[in-house]
Amino acid sequence: MATRKTAVITGSTSGIGLAIAQALAAKGHNVVVNSFSDTAADHAVADAIASQHKVNTAYIKADMSKPAECRALIAKAAEKFGSVDILVNNAGIQHVAPVEEFPIEKWDAIIAINLSSAFHTIAAAIPVMKNAGGGRIVNIASAHGLVASPFKSAYVSAKHGIMGLTKTVALELAREKITCNAICPGYVLTPLVEAQIPDQMKAHNMDRETVIREVMLDKQPTKEFVTVEQIAAAAVFLCSDAAAQVNGTHLSVDGGWTAA
Ligand code: NAD
Repeated sequence: MATRKTAVITGSTSGIGLAIAQALAAKGHNVVVNSFSDTAADHAVADAIASQHKVNTAYIKADMSKPAECRALIAKAAEKFGSVDILVNNAGIQHVAPVEEFPIEKWDAIIAINLSSAFHTIAAAIPVMKNAGGGRIVNIASAHGLVASPFKSAYVSAKHGIMGLTKTVALELAREKITCNAICPGYVLTPLVEAQIPDQMKAHNMDRETVIREVMLDKQPTKEFVTVEQIAAAAVFLCSDAAAQVNGTHLSVDGGWTAA
């Protein structure tokens, strides 16, 4: 992937997605920032990346729970920039509850946003990438794409699903110079993780510090949170020329969690 490319990162107004958008812009790529709202603050994220890294950026609103909006995101990005060379499927939500109490609407939303959205964006991006002679697809999965934890039935199911989608897409497009890989982060202290601490406290009947120590970082042998910059660096590598033969696999960035 030489010179300036155009990257679409879903769910990139905060957390891991924002760090990936910033890191790809730092490499000189144009970036499309996305979320489901359409506020001045959303557009300001894209504007700040443009002025900091001297690349072209755009904020495109698209709700990743809606198939038509997932596909329209790619169409709008291709129309604005002429191509979509890098697609990072990052948007994700979480809900923590025992499986028998898991709210049906939360199950549906997690499967839609964390799994089906990637099917839709990938399907829309493939013709655009083929036309350009290649591309990079990076799916932000999770350690929960490889192993399970209690109370996260929808999330674990969606993340295992995206691992299967990653491998299938890689096989189908291997001759098109389009690679598809996943990144499997361990716990990263982003708004998504902050938001699940109260639910984890309830589900495990523990206080905040105990949940962080005994539920979250208990899994990570390093006993440290992963940083968003470390995930972004993995994404930059997978989008580079050096990763041209890395295909249909995953990079774990989890402090050793899944080595056990
Ligand atoms: P975050 O909450 O900080 O960011 C999630 C982003 O997705 C936000 O920009 C949000 O606006 C966007 N989003 C949510 N619903 C959306 C929708 N319907 N349409 C469009 N955008 C939507 O979370 P994060 O921790 O940065 O998570 C990013 C990804 O990384 C997720 O897929 C998550 O599952 C994965 N992940 C996170 C961790 C972690 O510990 N934080 C670990 C493993 C995997």
